[in-house]
Amino acid sequence: MKELSCGAVVPNCDAKFTAASESEIMSQVADHARRVHGTDDVPPEVAEKVRLNIRETA
Ligand SMILES: [Zn+2]
Repeated sequence: MKELSCGAVVPNCDAKFTAASESEIMSQVADHARRVHGTDDVPPEVAEKVRLNIRETA
Protein backbone atom coordinates (compact mmCIF):
# COMPACT_ATOMS: atom_id res chain seq x y z
CA MET A 1 0.00 0.00 0.00
CA LYS A 2 0.97 3.61 -0.42
CA GLU A 3 0.41 6.35 2.10
CA LEU A 4 0.45 10.12 2.04
CA SER A 5 0.01 12.71 4.77
CA CYS A 6 -1.53 15.89 3.43
CA GLY A 7 0.47 17.75 6.07
CA ALA A 8 3.66 16.94 4.15
CA VAL A 9 2.34 19.18 1.38
CA VAL A 10 -0.12 21.51 3.12
CA PRO A 11 1.07 22.64 6.56
CA ASN A 12 -1.34 21.98 9.44
CA CYS A 13 -3.56 19.54 7.56
CA ASP A 14 -3.72 16.16 9.32
CA ALA A 15 -5.54 14.23 6.59
CA LYS A 16 -3.96 10.91 5.59
CA PHE A 17 -4.56 8.84 2.49
CA THR A 18 -3.84 5.21 1.78
CA ALA A 19 -4.34 3.41 -1.51
CA ALA A 20 -2.91 0.56 -3.54
CA SER A 21 -1.45 2.81 -6.21
CA GLU A 22 -0.05 6.27 -6.69
CA SER A 23 -2.86 7.19 -9.08
CA GLU A 24 -5.50 6.30 -6.46
CA ILE A 25 -3.68 8.47 -3.94
CA MET A 26 -3.66 11.30 -6.45
CA SER A 27 -7.40 11.01 -7.03
CA GLN A 28 -8.07 11.00 -3.27
CA VAL A 29 -5.83 14.04 -2.92
CA ALA A 30 -7.64 15.85 -5.74
CA ASP A 31 -11.00 15.16 -4.09
CA HIS A 32 -9.72 16.20 -0.65
CA ALA A 33 -8.08 19.34 -2.05
CA ARG A 34 -11.35 20.34 -3.67
CA ARG A 35 -13.49 19.74 -0.58
CA VAL A 36 -11.14 20.82 2.19
CA HIS A 37 -8.68 23.22 0.60
CA GLY A 38 -10.97 24.76 -2.03
CA THR A 39 -8.55 23.86 -4.82
CA ASP A 40 -10.32 22.88 -8.03
CA ASP A 41 -7.20 21.67 -9.78
CA VAL A 42 -4.03 20.49 -8.10
CA PRO A 43 -1.21 22.51 -9.72
CA PRO A 44 1.63 20.48 -11.26
CA GLU A 45 4.16 21.61 -8.67
CA VAL A 46 1.85 20.50 -5.85
CA ALA A 47 1.17 17.16 -7.58
CA GLU A 48 4.94 16.68 -7.81
CA LYS A 49 5.32 17.44 -4.11
CA VAL A 50 2.55 14.95 -3.34
CA ARG A 51 4.31 12.26 -5.39
CA LEU A 52 7.60 12.90 -3.59
CA ASN A 53 5.89 12.48 -0.23
CA ILE A 54 4.07 9.22 -0.95
CA ARG A 55 5.43 6.47 1.29
CA GLU A 56 5.35 2.75 0.71
CA THR A 57 3.68 0.83 3.55
CA ALA A 58 3.41 -2.88 4.21
ZN1 LIG B 1 -5.35 18.50 3.34
